[in-house]
Amino acid sequence: MYLFYIVIKRLAAKRFEKIKDVYICPKCGSIRLSIHDKLPPAARFIGAVPAQNFLCYDCDYEGIAPLIDKVEIDSFRKHLKKIKK
Ligand SMILES: [Zn+2]
Repeated sequence: MYLFYIVIKRLAAKRFEKIKDVYICPKCGSIRLSIHDKLPPAARFIGAVPAQNFLCYDCDYEGIAPLIDKVEIDSFRKHLKKIKK
């Protein structure tokens, strides 16, 4: 039973590694965001580019969020700290 648990855990970790791009909160650097569609359909488009609206679980930020590579999360957060100073 314990071995089974380890295998499941490894599989889950591998799946997570495959996801390379994540949406990140431009305010606090959290990746715990949820897409929410409160905007009317017409307002979701800025020019020709569809803009998704995000809600951050950590700081209640609401708006668009940049999509970045997972390896860039740390540098993105460092950059955020620099801006705050
Ligand atoms: Zn946030």
